[in-house]
Amino acid sequence: MIRAALAAATQRLAEISDTPRLDAELLMAHALGVARDDLLMRHIEASAPDGFEALVARRLAHEPVAYITGSRGFWSIDLAVGPGVLIPRPDSEALIEAAIAHFGAGAPAAVLDLGTGPGTLLLAALDHWPEARGLGVDRSAVALGYARDNAARLGMADRVAWRLGDWAGGIEERFDLILCNPPYIGTEEAIGEDVRRFEPASALFAGADGLDDYRRVIPQLRGLLAPGGCAVLEIGWTQAGAVSRLALDQGFSLRVRNDLGGRPRAVLLT
Ligand code: GLN
Repeated sequence: MIRAALAAATQRLAEISDTPRLDAELLMAHALGVARDDLLMRHIEASAPDGFEALVARRLAHEPVAYITGSRGFWSIDLAVGPGVLIPRPDSEALIEAAIAHFGAGAPAAVLDLGTGPGTLLLAALDHWPEARGLGVDRSAVALGYARDNAARLGMADRVAWRLGDWAGGIEERFDLILCNPPYIGTEEAIGEDVRRFEPASALFAGADGLDDYRRVIPQLRGLLAPGGCAVLEIGWTQAGAVSRLALDQGFSLRVRNDLGGRPRAVLLT
């Protein structure tokens, strides 16, 4: 029975995951081909599907749930993800909140996402501002493949353009909102085994102090911003001071916003 299979899997997954019950439910819903809510409300007494144990085994080998199920919710949208692309984190929703607080009742017309991955920040912003258009940049063709598919599935294909590129190099337009979640982990920093073994290092690591990409991106921002626009960068929770100094050096004013865990996660530059 599903109820019993979930309880047993939760116990095993507790060895490798901080969210074993959630993982078990997501894997079970995926094995059954139903939404998690439906699983709990309508299928809990059914017999467990054959494929479930194999999915649990993959998770026990540290593979992230989102790679196993092929999707992850972020803000108001679901994104297809898989090997080669950074899985959206709830922490990054702090960037969308910061942008919404900045524009208030207004809206950005043009949005740029530098290092868009599977389209995470850009597609969430376009979902929030239905009149906005956007450009997503990544240096990974694999990531842009996911981003393109996600835009099409969300019905946003005609509002976005994608560019294989190295940060803002070669971009001539101006944007009301720039979003950027660059790699920011120091090369020697310890990170979780799931992340280290499965997610792309190029999306995570940025030199000895994790600041290499801010040093490259922040000086490019002024020339990309339309009048009244803002740029919102994700930061590691210890980096607010260092990133603020890089931004102040470029003449920006800034505000820092916390994530749901109360840690500094987004800096908004104007
Ligand atoms: N927050 C991510 C993690 O710790 C890192 C994302 C990034 O480097 N941009 O896994």
